[in-house]
Amino acid sequence: MSTSADNDNVHKPGNFLRQIIENDLQRGTHAQRLWGGSPGDAQHHAQGGVDPARIRTRFPPEPNGYLHVGHAKSICVNFGLARDYGGTCHLRFDDTNPEKEDQEFVDGIIDAVHWLGFDWQDPEGGRENLYWASNYFNFMYRAAEYLIERGLAYVDEQTPEEMRANRGDFSRPGVDSPYRERGVAENLARFREMKDGKLPDGAAVLRAKIDMASHNINLRDPAIYRIKHAEHHNTGSQWCIYPMYTYAHPIEDALEHITHSICTLEFEDQRPFYDWLLDHLREGGLIAAPQPRQYEFARLNLTYVVTSKRKLKHLVDSGTLTGWDDPRMPTIVGLRRRGFTPEAIRDFCERIGVTKDYAWIDYALLEACLRDDLEARAHRAMVVLDPLKLELTNWAGVFGSAEHLEQCELPALPHAQAQGQAAPVRRLTLGREVWIEREDFAEEPPKGYKRLYPGNRVRLKGGYVIECTGCEKDEHGNVTRVLATVVPDTKSGTPGADSVKVKAAITWVGVQDAIAAEVRLYDRLFTDPQPDAGGKDYLELLNPDSLKVVTAWVEPSLARAQPDDKFQFERFGYFVADREDHSAARPVFNRIAGLKDSWGK
Ligand code: ATP
Ligand code: MG
Repeated sequence: MSTSADNDNVHKPGNFLRQIIENDLQRGTHAQRLWGGSPGDAQHHAQGGVDPARIRTRFPPEPNGYLHVGHAKSICVNFGLARDYGGTCHLRFDDTNPEKEDQEFVDGIIDAVHWLGFDWQDPEGGRENLYWASNYFNFMYRAAEYLIERGLAYVDEQTPEEMRANRGDFSRPGVDSPYRERGVAENLARFREMKDGKLPDGAAVLRAKIDMASHNINLRDPAIYRIKHAEHHNTGSQWCIYPMYTYAHPIEDALEHITHSICTLEFEDQRPFYDWLLDHLREGGLIAAPQPRQYEFARLNLTYVVTSKRKLKHLVDSGTLTGWDDPRMPTIVGLRRRGFTPEAIRDFCERIGVTKDYAWIDYALLEACLRDDLEARAHRAMVVLDPLKLELTNWAGVFGSAEHLEQCELPALPHAQAQGQAAPVRRLTLGREVWIEREDFAEEPPKGYKRLYPGNRVRLKGGYVIECTGCEKDEHGNVTRVLATVVPDTKSGTPGADSVKVKAAITWVGVQDAIAAEVRLYDRLFTDPQPDAGGKDYLELLNPDSLKVVTAWVEPSLARAQPDDKFQFERFGYFVADREDHSAARPVFNRIAGLKDSWGK
């Protein structure tokens, strides 16, 4: 089973990002770019050779939670484009907030990107492009002083309330701060006092000086530095001022010489500031040319899940779910434990495409991608989820002994032979007693019922045709045992087996070699397709039946199942041996997704 993203044999439709990149490559927009071997300023890159990476993209998560399916889209877009066009994609931890860094989240993010099949090496191998935004604090500070010196930034000491009020809104232009016309020397001195810890949190901010009347509110002198007396996991107590995201992000991209900075549409209104800042820093010779450009696409909205980190964290912290990797979580670790494959998730991202249109994607599409991936490679197995015992009352008469066992065979990959591949087989033994599904017997059959009822014949899949003769019941009238007779000379695969026609074949497991297993029947986490849209309370919309646990009997071939192995349980869908809890001594299987077609009559 390959997990490398290089082997995707998927049709890649064009999209507007590919168009942009192809145009850039054709025009040679980035062809002469120098790469200093690591991130750095204009001087640093000027000393390097021509960049071996034809394009550079980046994926910049904040290490404050586990990645979810929305991040998977961003990962597939950024790493996928870099791979397809001979570039590289940087993994950059956006740690500009001085919050306690959580190694658990950092490790989780690295694992998730690797598991999806991507890495962050330069195309010629070697260098790992894994970076931390906080390593750029010195440059960010230097750039801020540069802006002050050029009269492009000022220290504002209005209260946060005044600043908010004076910002105006869509219908009203902003009002200039009384500090807006401070001179360069005073601004510089005051900014250094901010840096030196002379001012308390909130007493002042550094603002870019752009246009308080701009229609784009983001250009009304956005704050670029704030005071925060807080330890940083990387820089310790070196800083008590920290850059704002909108200021830090373009600089991070520029120092890493990103060519195409791809983000979600919420950042569209930030693009003018992104360009304003980088234009000035490039003109001042601080950053290398050509500077990065930002492009936006529509974020993924997936039905029946929530993807806000805050809400996901609540589901974990409140004990509603068992953890970030609960198989019902739309996190990458959750999807992985549920049994989704990297191939299926990449295919899903490919199929939903990259557009600028706001849309909801149906969770069913993710399941369809999983089925498409596993259909040809997941071994088949029979299991009985709701067991009822069936006794073949003429067994000893037909085979000479009640203990006699018949060896049966079924293909593990039914389509493999047709495609000329190795066709592994599963061996099953059929004896006097078998487990069947409770719903496969009806004492009084409903109209159209084709399975077991007194007088009817069915095939035990891969075994013999049997004829139902009746049942036994307990004192409450519940059926405790189905009685049937085996029809001689009808064993699957033997000459003449088909001479007796039946309308149904049922799944079964032999009592003598059945293995008991815990089967976790997962379903959608929410009952509403958009649980947190339109002011709805997602917590009220949790599906009470999102997990049903049953003790099942499974066929003996599953004794070899290893954690993470995926199977198609005939008629029930795709299942995986749980990566945390499964062992040979105590098998545990998770339902990933049902079969497309529900079980017929
Ligand atoms: P949250 O708001 O839940 O905390 P986030 O977007 O702030 O999530 P980041 O760690 O900042 O989380 O995200 C890293 C990258 O993933 C960003 O570039 C962001 O645009 C992208 N991303 C996040 N959610 C989605 C989504 N639903 N679809 C596509 N890209 C996404
Ligand atoms: Mg964020």
